[in-house]
Amino acid sequence: MNYNQLIKIRRDLHQIPELGFREFKTQAYILQILEKIKTPNMVIEKWETGLFVYLKGKNPNKTLAYRADIDGLPIKEETNLPYHSKHEGCMHACGHDLHMTIAIGVINEIVRHPIDDNVLFIFQPAEEGPGGAKPMLQSEQFKKWNIDMIFALHIAPELPVGTVSSREGILFANTSELFIDFKGKGGHAAYPHLTKDMTVAASMFVAQIQQIISRKIDPLDSGVITIGKMTSGTVQNVIAEEAKLEGTIRTLNQETMRVIKAELERHIKGYELLYECKIRLDYGAMYHQVYNNGNVVSQFEKIMNSSNIIYKEANAAMTGEDFGYFLKEIDGFMFWLGVGSTYGLHHSKLNPNEEAIQIGVQAVVEMLKNYK
Ligand SMILES: [Zn+2]
Ligand SMILES: [Zn+2]
Repeated sequence: MNYNQLIKIRRDLHQIPELGFREFKTQAYILQILEKIKTPNMVIEKWETGLFVYLKGKNPNKTLAYRADIDGLPIKEETNLPYHSKHEGCMHACGHDLHMTIAIGVINEIVRHPIDDNVLFIFQPAEEGPGGAKPMLQSEQFKKWNIDMIFALHIAPELPVGTVSSREGILFANTSELFIDFKGKGGHAAYPHLTKDMTVAASMFVAQIQQIISRKIDPLDSGVITIGKMTSGTVQNVIAEEAKLEGTIRTLNQETMRVIKAELERHIKGYELLYECKIRLDYGAMYHQVYNNGNVVSQFEKIMNSSNIIYKEANAAMTGEDFGYFLKEIDGFMFWLGVGSTYGLHHSKLNPNEEAIQIGVQAVVEMLKNYK
């Protein structure tokens, strides 16, 4: 398998993006590629719509794991590329097509040039939601591999090709979804005093909860509450009986997440009293922070510095990644891989530079070969 074949694999995968736990075509495609390079040392197992690919080492004293996420996003692609998504309304807008391709490239490399340690390649479904890492980690099927170190990469549109980036400690935030439903008493627009107006209650609420960040969180700490969607009412001349808010919370430590949630709950009690309504709160999906192990990252930095790949220190980001669940249990780290795209992650015009695939394969292979 050469570089051009990897590009073809990436473009094939790019055309068939599928949402979390529905990656059927993706799984079948990867299996069909692996069949061509399969050796007696390779064990392939299905897990839901994902895969485990185990390669036995020559002289193993540990088992390393490399994880690639495989799902797409419910975004309509607007790249106009000849190999754009064939699944209308769905797109690999987070680079998971590259993540998978790099994993396939690394498997191919290690099959041809076996290394000492065992390696488990994880093709993980549903990173974008509802979250595949947590149930996978809890499965007996995963536990039996006894992983000593696990790592993963994510494409970084803002970094140039040829560059990787990481840091010790927190890389990605703790995240929690937020769904808040207000229910009051609707009525005629001209008789507000006979109603409990949920448009007014929800509007005040959206504005006020920003003060949780500015007044309840240490200014040297960080937190984000974003309400991305607000719906209320039915028609222009009726006072709204219902309002719904949808948003997300992001923090760089778990204690801050706890404080923000406790404050939101206090606000809800207060608003129920003040606006004489019922408010229902649901946190939806939560992702654990991605916390990189210092020893593993410093080894990676050294390994990169002795290659032609440029290593840069990263800043922590408020983005979430369900890979954090793996790092909660197993030492390891995640790094950014520069793909130099004008448009960012989750954008309908994201167009990563495919030359980054080779750099990604090289970075992962070097790490697997040299990690002590
Ligand atoms: Zn994403
Ligand atoms: Zn992603």
